[in-house]
Amino acid sequence: MPVPLFPNEPRRERPGAPAEDTNEMMSFDGIGVAPGIAIGPVYRYAGETYKAEAERLEENEVDAELQRFEEAIIRSERELRKIVTVAHEKLGVSSGVIFDAQLLMLRDPSFYDVAADLIRTQRHEAGYAVQTVLDKHRQRMEAAGSASLRERAADIVDVQNRVLRNLRQGKALSKIDREHIVVAENLTAADVLLFSRRGVLGCVLDFGGPTSHVSIMARALGVPAAVSLHGLSEIVGAGDTLILDGFSGVVILNPDEETLARYREKQARYAALSAESEAIAAEPAETLDGRHVQLQANLEFREELPLLHEYGAEGVGLFRTEMLFLTQGQALDEAQQYDVYRDVVRAAAPHAVTFRLIDLGGDKLLPMAHREANPFLGWRGVRILLDKPHLLRPQLRAILRASVEGPSRILLPMISSISEVQAIKATIEEVKAELDEEGIPYAPSIPLGIMVEVPAVALQADRFAAEADFFSIGTNDLTQYTLAVDRTNTRLARLFNPFHPAVVRQLHQVSRVARASGIEVSVCGEMAANPLGAFLLLGLDISESIYSFQRVAVSLGVPLGLSSDAPDWGFRLQLDANF
Ligand code: PEP
Ligand code: MG
Repeated sequence: MPVPLFPNEPRRERPGAPAEDTNEMMSFDGIGVAPGIAIGPVYRYAGETYKAEAERLEENEVDAELQRFEEAIIRSERELRKIVTVAHEKLGVSSGVIFDAQLLMLRDPSFYDVAADLIRTQRHEAGYAVQTVLDKHRQRMEAAGSASLRERAADIVDVQNRVLRNLRQGKALSKIDREHIVVAENLTAADVLLFSRRGVLGCVLDFGGPTSHVSIMARALGVPAAVSLHGLSEIVGAGDTLILDGFSGVVILNPDEETLARYREKQARYAALSAESEAIAAEPAETLDGRHVQLQANLEFREELPLLHEYGAEGVGLFRTEMLFLTQGQALDEAQQYDVYRDVVRAAAPHAVTFRLIDLGGDKLLPMAHREANPFLGWRGVRILLDKPHLLRPQLRAILRASVEGPSRILLPMISSISEVQAIKATIEEVKAELDEEGIPYAPSIPLGIMVEVPAVALQADRFAAEADFFSIGTNDLTQYTLAVDRTNTRLARLFNPFHPAVVRQLHQVSRVARASGIEVSVCGEMAANPLGAFLLLGLDISESIYSFQRVAVSLGVPLGLSSDAPDWGFRLQLDANF
């Protein structure tokens, strides 16, 4: 069998078959973003994109054009509100946040006022004005180093298309044939929502990543999906049959009978497991030998809070606070941060919230951030915080102030040396003294933890244990730094293996040291969302793990079905609220 040069090149499953055999079975490697197996006929969806031409208005046409612009905005708002209502019905209140952002964008002065101004002063036709402004916003997002910001560019394209269509009074078309797998270059979150009402079996996209809104929506709706299939939509056509594996991201075109049978069995197994897991989720989280499993959430936005209760999470194990900055595209001041932190602590109480200090850098860059040749080995996490007290201090003040509302913990990102921990501790003491002077209360005890995500920390865990109240192992970065594999490089995805013995040895070492030192240890990387990872972590005696919401039902089946005679297992499993 020929070895493909690039991961996303199709693999011929029947190498002897002639090239002109259009029904040849082929496999493609994408990224699985919404679990489940779909098998069915292809519906090739092209969507609609609108382009406006540079046309100049006559002086006396400007007022009418401004009116036409306003009407298109109103129509777009009406459409989005309808989608929010459907999202609420199908997914609960928190889901509407994706479309709320688009709704806000329609009236945001940086779009609305600037476009109106172009119509008024430059006498641009409304469509061209909209396109000019939103193209610039989109390009800025796409140029951002952060994968999540780049993916938000898709929302801008969605808004642009919606307004341009409404300027032409066009109707929204998100209609497909029932019981088909949609294959498209890209889709909007709204498309997936509307398709799901028409019984779509799954979605396969050329573009997108795990955190793009379309992926989030597919996960939330339970529509199996794979993204990043690079050009598959140009190969498939009506009459083709697909297998979509939303776990692995593998897509098989025109499967043979044997492959079909294999995947049908996998599909049936998943259905049975999901049904069982739903029932299990309602039960107390305990292993068969009676150990309680504490499920905690991994949170990025305040809007995810309702999910804590939906999934029965016992607190927030990791709050990625930098996401607040990344979605705003700028730093938040103390008051803005306090607002969010207070709500999160209140919602989680009486359980604890672990605030990870801003972890910018690496793949999480603000649009205007300074560029480096090797951002993952560069100025990131605690290195930025120690250089920029105007980022660190307001955040510490905001967390300390919020801590009076319920149990709170502080977690330090990208630590690689003891002196960094000591420097942050000293700053915390200074900030506390400042608050004391101002008569502002904070909780008397706020445990301080360290992210173990650089091998330098894992290898010296004993020394770090003396400085920390808890360890949180970031297997995403620990794997990347141990194996020298960029975690965002899809071409190297096969080498990114948290089960590599070099990673597992470090997990074991950190777990042993933590236990010997009497401090807590958790895993907050994606490894814990993998059922096999759960087995391994339980065996390594790691007391907390993070689970992805979308996989929690499956994952829960693992520890709960586990019978063990290990006498002192005290596992705490965290639940990833990464909705
Ligand atoms: C990790 O590195 O495993 C982790 C949880 O942090 P992040 O993914 O935010 O870098
Ligand atoms: Mg990390």
